[in-house]
Amino acid sequence: MKYLFVTGGVVSSLGKGIISSSIGKLLQARGYSITIQKFDPYINIDPGTLNPYEHGECYVTEDGMETDLDLGHYERFTNIRTTRGNSITTGRIYRAVIDKERRGDYLGKTIQVVPHITDEIKRRIRREDDPNKYDFIITEIGGTIGDIESMPFLEAIRQMKWENQGDVACIHLTYVPYLKAAGEVKTKPTQHSVKEMQGVGIQPDILVLRTETHLNSDIIHKVASFCNVDRDCVVQSEDMPSIYEVPVAMQEQGLDAAILRKLGMPVGETPQLENWRDFLKRRDAAVETVKIAIAGKYELQDAYKSIRESLHHAGVYNDRKVDIQFINTEFLTPDDVEEKMKGVSGVVICPGFGQRGTEGKIVMAEYCRTHDIPTFGICYGMQMIVVEFARNVLGYKDANSAEIDPETKHNVIDIMEEQKAITQMGGTMRLGAYPCRLREGSKAYEVYGKADIRERHRHRYEFNNAYLEEFEKAGMVCTGKNPDADLVEIVEIPALKWYLAAQFHPEYQSTVLHPHPLFMSFTKAAIEYNDEHNR
Ligand code: GLN
Repeated sequence: MKYLFVTGGVVSSLGKGIISSSIGKLLQARGYSITIQKFDPYINIDPGTLNPYEHGECYVTEDGMETDLDLGHYERFTNIRTTRGNSITTGRIYRAVIDKERRGDYLGKTIQVVPHITDEIKRRIRREDDPNKYDFIITEIGGTIGDIESMPFLEAIRQMKWENQGDVACIHLTYVPYLKAAGEVKTKPTQHSVKEMQGVGIQPDILVLRTETHLNSDIIHKVASFCNVDRDCVVQSEDMPSIYEVPVAMQEQGLDAAILRKLGMPVGETPQLENWRDFLKRRDAAVETVKIAIAGKYELQDAYKSIRESLHHAGVYNDRKVDIQFINTEFLTPDDVEEKMKGVSGVVICPGFGQRGTEGKIVMAEYCRTHDIPTFGICYGMQMIVVEFARNVLGYKDANSAEIDPETKHNVIDIMEEQKAITQMGGTMRLGAYPCRLREGSKAYEVYGKADIRERHRHRYEFNNAYLEEFEKAGMVCTGKNPDADLVEIVEIPALKWYLAAQFHPEYQSTVLHPHPLFMSFTKAAIEYNDEHNR
């Protein structure tokens, strides 16, 4: 087993997740089995309780762990399925150690950061609880070198490097700024960042320089010699048109070959990445655009990361560029919806929590339903589609989700029975993949091409089955149900062209090489709408 560590210096947001994913992709292409895991230095047990403004979207694994959004990149790039073992925080490490201490496992010892916390970190890095074996375990460390919080993780890496000599390589990402006034790029922050690493006993083996301008070979040479790194182990990561260019750019500079050489492994032929390049080619060939709105309450790009990426994938395979327009439902009213929808050919009504922005989602659902615009509701988006239908078609003016109005008489979306007794917020929703059976003859069935599917969930509330018959009589039908628990998972209005909503999150399963069928079909419908109405 070989271990790769990916750390970041100078500033945050350098794209460590993309570099980790790219390395994973390139090693896979060489026939190696890999997994990628993220260690976040914050104290939350998981990011499930975090506001998306803090760290962007919360991703959900198949086995129901709420994780950092980088795990979404890992899956989208490599098609691997991550699990709860792939997302670790300081909070989880400390909790495990404290639980062991309470059980008496440490036999009277004083519990300290070194060795107890660092041992627990190393146990997780080595994935001792994972029955699968990998050729490479790639571990990305969140945060920036120099943060107080990341010190125990760096100490664990230092120990691992010492204990597994020859089997560990450290890849450090830094930033090389261009100073306009001076007319030159500056390598000093990189030098300082490497010094900081050396100060905790880690010599980076490979440097990835993030830069907005191309760095010439003198600069690369200078960084290599000042930082004690081989010349062929310094690569640059320039700004790219998209994140999906990164694996190719890294391969062209020999990043994967450098890693193999560092670990004393044979380098061999460079894989062609045919499928990946085909994806890029097809994307570049698509020039015509289709405008799709995502209706939600978070302005932040990262808040709906997986939905944006899923639309992007589906656009490529439909040979169109998807132009995503964010519509903030907090400020959406019946008076301005028409104006805001100009040129839009499809709408995703987004997931969410709490009351803010929900009335706007209902306005959007009504507008799309009455104008037959392709509409895709996801989780809270589905719930608001259901509420809108109850209010405006069934005539229950006070219909709502119990999450927003616990007193409503017409609780068409209600809390799940098993959720009622729960008092803790963290990790207690309906989480992870559950089976769903599709109704034959429905749009959902046609799209998936089979009856039994599994999709990932993250919610507390559900469609209230007491209303199902009435909904179906009025034209909104349930076409996907959990076969074990009889929960409504998909609703559709068959009389409309494409009006479908899911209680689950299909966006977590779309990858570059396997776009999600629902996004594919929705985007196709949006393109047809565009060509008919908005061309
Ligand atoms: N707030 C809703 C619920 O808990 C929907 C959650 C979501 O959109 N992920 O059921």
